[in-house]
Amino acid sequence: MPELPEVEITARLIGSATGGRRIESALAPGVNTLRTYDPPLSATAGKKIVSVTRRGKLFVVTLDDDLTLLIHLMSAGRLQLFDTRASLRDRTSRLLLRLEDGSELRLREFGTKQAAWVKLLRPDGLDTEETLTTLGPEAYPDPPPLRPLLDAPRPLHGMLRDQRILAGIGRSWVDEILHEAKLSPFKRGSELSDAEAARLREAIIAKLGGAIAHYEQNLALPIPDKLPMPLTVHRRNGELCPRCGDTLEAVFYEDYVMCYCPTCQTDGKLLKDRRLSRLLK
Ligand SMILES: [Zn+2]
Repeated sequence: MPELPEVEITARLIGSATGGRRIESALAPGVNTLRTYDPPLSATAGKKIVSVTRRGKLFVVTLDDDLTLLIHLMSAGRLQLFDTRASLRDRTSRLLLRLEDGSELRLREFGTKQAAWVKLLRPDGLDTEETLTTLGPEAYPDPPPLRPLLDAPRPLHGMLRDQRILAGIGRSWVDEILHEAKLSPFKRGSELSDAEAARLREAIIAKLGGAIAHYEQNLALPIPDKLPMPLTVHRRNGELCPRCGDTLEAVFYEDYVMCYCPTCQTDGKLLKDRRLSRLLK
C-alpha cells in the first residue's frame, strides 16, 4: 500500500529519470482510470515532463504547456518506468505514457479492483481540484504542531489517516508511528497531552523520514512490483515487539488490520477485535 514514503521515493527516482523527456503518445487501458476528458489524453503528446513531485499520497506530474497529470495509486497501484513498452496482454496496465526515447512510464494496478485514477488538468482545474484543495498539511518533513491539529474526540488511528487533517499517512505507517510514539490507536486526539503530541510529531518525522532514507539506500529503477517496506509492527501480529519483546496484537477490520503492542501502547490492555465482536452480536 503506497503511502508518503513510497510515493516520495517513486517521485524522486522517476522524476530524475524522466525530467526533460518528451511524451510521444499516451494510452489509458484502464477503463475507469482517466477521470477527466478535457483536455483529452492526446494533448500530452509532444509535451515534455518537467517534474514528478508528490503531494500527500498523490503524484503531480508537471508537463510543459501548463498541463498536469495528477495520479493516485489508491491501495494497489504502482508508477513504474520501463525501458520497453507494455505488452497488450499486461492486464495491470492502467495508463501508459510512451516517451520519445522508447521508455514507458506505466501506471499499473495489482489485484482485481480498478481504483487507481488519473486526472489531466490545466492550471484552473488544478487550482480547484478537490483532492488537492482539501488536503491537510504534509506529514513530512515538517508537520505542524499536533495538539491543535488533532483536537477532536476521534481515535488517533483514524485521525492520522485522514488526509484532510494530515497528508500522507495510511494504514501501514500509522501503526508504526503510534507504536514509536507509545500511544494507543484508540486514544482520542483531544486527550493528547502536550508531551504526547510532541512525541507523536517526532515519531511521524522519524518513521516517515526513516522509510525514505531506507528506500534511498535500497531502491533503484525499475521500481519493483512489491516495495520492501521496512515495517516492524504493521501486519506483524503474533511476532515480538521490537522494543519490549511482548507479542504484537491486531484488531481486524473488514479491509484492513491494525497492529499494536499492548505493553508499549495500551497499558497491557487487549483491544477488542471489531470483526469478531460484530459476528458474535
Ligand atoms: Zn512493546
